Amino acid sequence: MTERLVVIGGDATGMAAASQARRRRAAGELEIVAFERGRHVSYSACGIPYWIAGDTDGPDSLVARTAAEHRKNDIDLRLGTEAVAIDAERGRVLSRDTDGREEWTGYDQLVIATGAVPVRPPIPGVEAAGVHGVQTLDDGEAVLKGLDREGVRRAVVVGGGYIGVEMAEAMLRHGLDVTLVDGAEQPMSTLDPDMGRLVRDALEGLGVRVVSGSPVTAVLTDDGGRARAVATDDEEFPADIVVLGLGVRPNTALAADAGLPLGSHGGLLTDRAMRVRGRETVWAGGDCVEVLNLVSGTLQHIALGTHANKHGRIIGVNIGGGYATFPGVVGTAVSKVCDVEIARTGLKESQARAAGLQYVTAVIESTSRAGYYPEAAVMTVKMLAERGTGRLLGVQIVGREGAAKRVDIAAVALTAGMTVDQMIELDLGYAPPFSPVWDPILVAARKAAGEVAERAGRR
Ligand SMILES: Cc1cc2nc3c(=O)[nH]c(=O)nc-3n(C[C@H](O)[C@H](O)[C@H](O)COP(=O)(O)OP(=O)(O)OC[C@H]3O[C@@H](n4cnc5c(N)ncnc54)[C@H](O)[C@@H]3O)c2cc1C
Repeated sequence: MTERLVVIGGDATGMAAASQARRRRAAGELEIVAFERGRHVSYSACGIPYWIAGDTDGPDSLVARTAAEHRKNDIDLRLGTEAVAIDAERGRVLSRDTDGREEWTGYDQLVIATGAVPVRPPIPGVEAAGVHGVQTLDDGEAVLKGLDREGVRRAVVVGGGYIGVEMAEAMLRHGLDVTLVDGAEQPMSTLDPDMGRLVRDALEGLGVRVVSGSPVTAVLTDDGGRARAVATDDEEFPADIVVLGLGVRPNTALAADAGLPLGSHGGLLTDRAMRVRGRETVWAGGDCVEVLNLVSGTLQHIALGTHANKHGRIIGVNIGGGYATFPGVVGTAVSKVCDVEIARTGLKESQARAAGLQYVTAVIESTSRAGYYPEAAVMTVKMLAERGTGRLLGVQIVGREGAAKRVDIAAVALTAGMTVDQMIELDLGYAPPFSPVWDPILVAARKAAGEVAERAGRR
């Protein structure tokens, strides 16, 4: 008998799951229906800031696989169709199309891949014209249209996370005066404040005015209802365009209404096979789930395309009759603002403390190439290691070309559970155009190992 798979959400996780399941099970065996409420499918939200900045084309080039390609692959993809209820007891989904037509569709297997919703603070004016989120390709088009308006000179970016700093760059590239207003102590609160300070310095060096520790209290509008300024308790910042980059939360209202289990961060809870806990035929992945942090041993909500694509593949393999699991994450992320690269993996200090871990820190400055080689650029590496055991706990890097992807060495070391002593012995490649003879990661590991030994002496 033909089984039916219903997928809710047509981006990274949902369509990866659908495509992988289709690869393993033919249409006669598995019917696949995918609901996507938007106009686009399998698109890269990650590319939106670079499209707006003018580095890449868009929106078509940000679509990895078109609706037509999915349909050719025997996936019944329904764009402009929102899933509005899940009846998990009877195994069916209620959908509504753009004409308001509603329909129940039964499923044998269900994939929930609804992603995340951008945080919009409940402040006056936040829905005004001229205030933009950057979640979808439609948002990208709206920002570009906003930038095309006559007399646009000043941009205010609200939020100093990676989307905020990437959008600050995009606004700079359009020649605007940019102010970044953030409630946190420093931009990039996924880093420790001392490393966030370096990002702040870099932003200011690029001409961005950075206002930290100041939550936005209102978006002020003109007589026509268009945003004209962003206000904090202390100041008003004139704006011809406002971009929100305040992070996201799991989009799980539908799942919650269906009685599916959510964790303390609001994400769906799954097992390692990405099956929703306690539900044999319901799967979930991507930005709508919580993931295990392998370093802290706690569940976290980390909205990243890397995980979303892996989750989708794993779900598709399992629905397709194979076996795959997702062990967890170490919390690796990279970003940039103009030529300044930012990277992190593992735990920052506050996360280590929250996990009850004692640690030492090492901060070093080194260069991306041999010091005498042209264009050797300074980078700062911060490393955390567990007191006593010397186990690597986390790494943060801020620097220029060649800085960010060095964090992958640390991600591998974290995954392998290496100590900083073991890291020193890693046989990393060296030639003057690529690194100093001691790679910055090894220099940091040496310093961290020294700190661990010193603390052990004082035990
Ligand atoms: C500006 C920006 C930059 C980013 N940059 C990076 C980066 O550099 N690196 C990185 O790793 N990650 C990055 N990300 C994060 C990455 O894009 C997401 O983690 C990834 O897209 C998550 O995939 P997903 O399938 O879980 O969710 P989404 O991509 O959010 O897809 C969910 C889909 O479900 C649809 N949907 C939701 N509810 C319903 C419903 N009820 N019915 C029907 N359809 C529904 C939505 O319309 C959406 O298309 C970035 C995100 C943004 C916004």
